[in-house]
Amino acid sequence: MEARWRSSAKPVQAPKTTKTVSFEEVSGKASSSEALPLSLHLTNAVFFSLFFSVVYFLLSRWREKIRTSTPLHLVNLSEIVAIFAFIASFVYLLGFFGIDFVHSLILRPSTDLWNSEDEEENEALLRKEDARKIPCGQALDCSVTSAPIISAQKVVDEKPVKLTTEEDEEIIKAIVAGTTPSYSLESKLGDCKRAASIRREALGRITGKSLSGLPLDGFDYESILGQCCEMPIGYVQIPVGIAGPLLLNGKEYSVPMATTEGCLVASTNRGCKAIHLSGGASSVLLKDGMTRAPVVRFGTAKRAVDLKFYLEDPENFETLAVVFNRSSRFARLQGIKCVIAGKNLYLRFTCSTGDAMGMNMVSKGVQNVLDFLQTDFPDMDVIGISGNLCSDKKPAAVNWIEGRGKSVVCEAIIKGDVVRKVLKTSVESLVELNMLKNLTGSAMAGALGGFNAHASNIVSAVYIATGQDPAQNIESSHCITMMEAVNEGNDLHISVTMPSIEVGTVGGGTQLASQSACLNLLGVKGASQESPGANSRRLATIVAGAVLAGELSLMSALAAGQLVKSHMKYNRSSKDVSKTSS
Ligand code: ADP
Repeated sequence: MEARWRSSAKPVQAPKTTKTVSFEEVSGKASSSEALPLSLHLTNAVFFSLFFSVVYFLLSRWREKIRTSTPLHLVNLSEIVAIFAFIASFVYLLGFFGIDFVHSLILRPSTDLWNSEDEEENEALLRKEDARKIPCGQALDCSVTSAPIISAQKVVDEKPVKLTTEEDEEIIKAIVAGTTPSYSLESKLGDCKRAASIRREALGRITGKSLSGLPLDGFDYESILGQCCEMPIGYVQIPVGIAGPLLLNGKEYSVPMATTEGCLVASTNRGCKAIHLSGGASSVLLKDGMTRAPVVRFGTAKRAVDLKFYLEDPENFETLAVVFNRSSRFARLQGIKCVIAGKNLYLRFTCSTGDAMGMNMVSKGVQNVLDFLQTDFPDMDVIGISGNLCSDKKPAAVNWIEGRGKSVVCEAIIKGDVVRKVLKTSVESLVELNMLKNLTGSAMAGALGGFNAHASNIVSAVYIATGQDPAQNIESSHCITMMEAVNEGNDLHISVTMPSIEVGTVGGGTQLASQSACLNLLGVKGASQESPGANSRRLATIVAGAVLAGELSLMSALAAGQLVKSHMKYNRSSKDVSKTSS
C-alpha cells in the first residue's frame, strides 16, 4: 500500500500547452526496448535462442548422467554456465511476457479470503489487489490515485498537489476508516486544494473506482468554499462555444454557451447572423422581481384571512416594506400576494434584488417580515419559509402568469431575403410551422410555458457559462415564440416572451473565474456601478436575444427539413437527434 502510494504520488509535470500525452509519458514508464542496447525483436530472439539451447543442453546432460550413473549434483563448468544462462533467460522471458499473468494468479483473492476472520489482513490484501485491478472504464489509466494524474488532454498552469507526506497518508487512512469526516478536511487543513486531493484519494480507495478523467488541478478550490460546492473532488469540464455577434438594442454581444450538445452553438450562431443581417433585435424588460412564498398556518381559516387582509392593506405595506428592506441595501419590496388554502396562508413576496439573482436576499427579507408579524399575529405558525408558491425550480403556472425574476420580451423583423438565403426556408413555412408546433402542438400537449422549440437549450448553455443556477432553467425557459408575416408577407416578425428569467451578475457561481470571464465578455460582470441591477437586467435581455436566435434557427432547420442532416454532420451521426432539440 505504502509503495503504491509513493509511486503514484510522483507528480507528472503537466505540459504547458494542450497536448496529447501517451500513456508511457503520463505514467513515466519507459518501454523495455529503450533500456536495451539492441532492438526489441533482436533481444527477444537472442533470449529465446539462449533459453531453448540451454534447456536442450541441460536435458541432454541430465540424460547422459542417468545413463552413466553420475550423481546429478556433480556439475562441470559448462553446466554451471548453462544453469546461469537458463535462469537469466527465464527471468527475462517471464518479465517480458508473463509477469502480469503470474501476478494475477498469485494475487487473486480466493473465496476463503473473503470469509477470513482476520479482517485487517483481508483489507490489506484486497487493497493491494484493488491497486492492480481497479474496475474502470478507461483502457489506459486505471490507477486509483488521482491528484498527480493528468488526463491526456489537459492544460494545467499550476503544480499538482503532491500527496507524499506521511501526514497526508494518515489523514487518508482516517477518512477511509471513517474516523475523520471527509467534510471537515477544509476546516482542519486550511488548504482547500489539499483537502480536495486527500478526499479524492480516500474516495478512490473506498470505492475502488478510478477518477482519472476528472481533473483536480487547475481550479481554485478556495473560491467555492462556503458558497458553491461542498466536499469537492475535482471539476467537470464543459466546453464553451461562442455565438454571435448578437445585435441587440443596437449593441453587439458575443454570447458564451457551455454545452456538450453538438449543433446548438452553430445553430444559435446562424440565428444571430440572420438577426444581424436584418438590422438586429430589440428586447424590453417588463418586470424585475424575485419571489419567495412562505406558508403559515392558523387555528382557523378566519385568522388566516385576517392576516391576508392585513397584508393587502396599502397602509400596512409601507411598514412591511421598511422591515423587509432592512435585509439588504439592494432589496426593495414590491408586493405581497396572498393565497388561502383553508387555514393555511401562502404569502408570495416579490422584491427587486439589484444585480443579484436574489434568492438569498428575498429569503432574508421574508424572515424579517415574519418575525415582525409574530407580534400582531402570535397564533401564526410558520410552517416553512418556502411554501412552493414562489415557485423555485419547479414548473408552475404562477411563474408563467405572474413572472419571476426578469420578465422580458424580445423581437426582430427578419428580412425575407435573409430567411431564404441564410435560413434556407420561407416566411410562409416558418409561420405555419410555428402555428402548428409551438402554439397548437404545445397546447395539445398541455404545455406549461413550453410554447417554444428549444428555449431551454439556450437558457441552460448561457446559464452554465455565466454561473447562473442551472436548475432554474425550468422556469427561466418558459417562453412563447410568436411568428407572423409582415410587410405584405415579405418579412418575418418573430418574438419570444419570457416571464421568468432568473439571472444575476453577483453572488453564487457568478464570482468564479471562468463564469466571471464569460460575464465580462458580455460586459455585465459584477455589480453595475451606474445603476444597481442594470447588469443583471441586461443579462436577462441577452438571454432572451440568444433564445430568439436559437428559435429562429431551429425552426428554420425544421421547416427546411434540415434538422437530421445537420445533426448527422455535427454529431457524427452518433446521437438520437429526436432527444436533443425541439
Ligand atoms: P442571491 O441573493 O442571488 O443568492 P447573494 O446573497 O449570494 O445573492 O449575493 C448578493 C450579495 O451581493 C449581497 O450581499 C449584496 O449586498 C451584494 N451586492 C453587491 N453589489 C450588489 C448589487 N449591485 N446588486 C445586488 N447585490 C449586490
